[in-house]
Amino acid sequence: TQVYLNGHFINQQDAMVSVMDRGFMFADGAYEVIPAFYQVPFRVRQHLARLDFSLSSIRIENPLKHEEWLRVFDQLLAQNSGEHQSIYLQVTRGVAPDRNHLWPKGLEPTVLVMTTPLQMKLDEDFSHVQGMTAITTEDLRWKRCDIKAIALLPNVLHRQRAEEAGADEAILINEQGQVTEGSSSNVFIVKGNEIATPPKGMPILGGITRDLVIELLQFDVNYQLSERMVSQDELHKADEVWITSSTKEICPVTILDKQPVGDGKVGPVWYETASRYQRYKQQLATE
Ligand code: PLP
Repeated sequence: TQVYLNGHFINQQDAMVSVMDRGFMFADGAYEVIPAFYQVPFRVRQHLARLDFSLSSIRIENPLKHEEWLRVFDQLLAQNSGEHQSIYLQVTRGVAPDRNHLWPKGLEPTVLVMTTPLQMKLDEDFSHVQGMTAITTEDLRWKRCDIKAIALLPNVLHRQRAEEAGADEAILINEQGQVTEGSSSNVFIVKGNEIATPPKGMPILGGITRDLVIELLQFDVNYQLSERMVSQDELHKADEVWITSSTKEICPVTILDKQPVGDGKVGPVWYETASRYQRYKQQLATE
């Protein structure tokens, strides 16, 4: 497998970063995960815009221009195997001479890009779809979850807690008893004809998949789409609960805190939304 590290395409086994890298020492950096279908990165402009936002928020200058990122992605996607792949990129503040919270001036950011094969279907055959299980748990993260920072310790602990409770995902609840998002996903609920998802802002990551789901639904007169706070109680009483992310796409949650969501089956609004999502992807893939 080839990776891109600091301007070079090299074997993953040969890709080495100093222990003094501030990513290693302080988790001082940002990242993106971008799916690519048939070697075409999906919603890549949106991902690169979010990368710009994350980097400027933590005051790292983006080391590559958008066109340069795209060239790196193309080359890795062509060299590595997998009909569909997921691109992982991370930028850290760079290698510092000593371990000091304060960053020295003039560091060269460390840039890593790699890809992994992605098992993903582009059709509308949902016969294989099974509901996921989730738990709710207290959101233990910091106040800038809108930055896609590589510091993921709380997310890791939340995900591990879900695993140990026999669940696939942890849905996070803030101190006011409201849903923020999943440990690595955004959350939607359906109740009657309303589809609701927490608003973008500092407590959540503005998901690219979340934005696309909203795009696909917002002008549909059959549904009322709301970006609003959702309470834990509403989550438990919802007809449908979905989680979204670039690699999971839209997943129906059918068991929440060991109780069925709605009637416990994958819901009709999910089927409708997931079909639109698949059609949108197919359209791009065949252009
Ligand atoms: N929220 C968190 C905390 C995430 O880590 C992710 C992605 O992994 C998402 C939401 C979903 O974002 P996207 O749809 O851009 O993948």
